[in-house]
Amino acid sequence: MTSRLADSLLQLLPRAGVCVLSRTRFIPVLHVERLQDDSSFARTLAFAEGYLGATGERALLTVITPMAPMLAMELKAAGLSEDFYRERIGSLARFADIGLHGHYLREPSSPIRPVHNYWNEASIIAAQIELERDWLERRGLMTHRAYSAGWWHLDAGLVKTLAALGFRMDFSSSTARFNDSPGAVRSERFRRSPVIFAHPDAPGILAVWAVSSLGDSAARSFVVRRALTAFPKLLFRKEESFLSLYSHDWDLNVEGALKTVETLKAHGAGFVSLQGLLDRGLAGSSANQAVPS
Ligand SMILES: [Zn+2]
Repeated sequence: MTSRLADSLLQLLPRAGVCVLSRTRFIPVLHVERLQDDSSFARTLAFAEGYLGATGERALLTVITPMAPMLAMELKAAGLSEDFYRERIGSLARFADIGLHGHYLREPSSPIRPVHNYWNEASIIAAQIELERDWLERRGLMTHRAYSAGWWHLDAGLVKTLAALGFRMDFSSSTARFNDSPGAVRSERFRRSPVIFAHPDAPGILAVWAVSSLGDSAARSFVVRRALTAFPKLLFRKEESFLSLYSHDWDLNVEGALKTVETLKAHGAGFVSLQGLLDRGLAGSSANQAVPS
């Protein structure tokens, strides 16, 4: 009831000429995991094209590649080739930027919680990231090295590995979700701010906070409310602020997500591509060091 009331009030603001997100820039970062499914592929393509048309900016699609053992197993079982998967990512790359989404599973039937499999075996993870990075780059699919963590799991070793492998931007920090597995970098450990920040464990990697899914609520102002709840200072900041929004490919509500984009625009928000984030982050205009609190 309270959230419904907040939603109704928020919807009145643009009509009254009040734009609460006029200095906030969003980037959608999708976790793309099942392009072998026609439905997942169609949703992701429709969103990427619709988003580009609505904003003039490119969404970031972080993908799992056939170099990931779990996906390789699924493709083999379905009788699909690497080339099939490459073509699907290539179709998406016409409208969006491509990054890497890290999942390191080997044994789907392991009695251990799957998230634990191999996450702490740094050499295995590093080797897989390198393979996946090269697979994407040799096919011209990834132009800037960007990453999002499977299960939002990020630890100091993984960040350092990403830096050593030349990754420049990470989207694994979430105010809404975090992985509390042993060794994970818990969101609460860091001072949150809606800026482009450098990871304390690897300052060469820039990051922004994720604040909400793209549109899994019927409430029109759901994402606006989530952003303002996570960062009330958005209302008062004079500088540009930067936040990311997430969804999977397989549960993406395209219509809801594009409506969310329109709602954010009505509240004055802008949108930014990966290139735009890197340019601003490297210029240092809004990059802040994340400080353990
Ligand atoms: Zn994932």
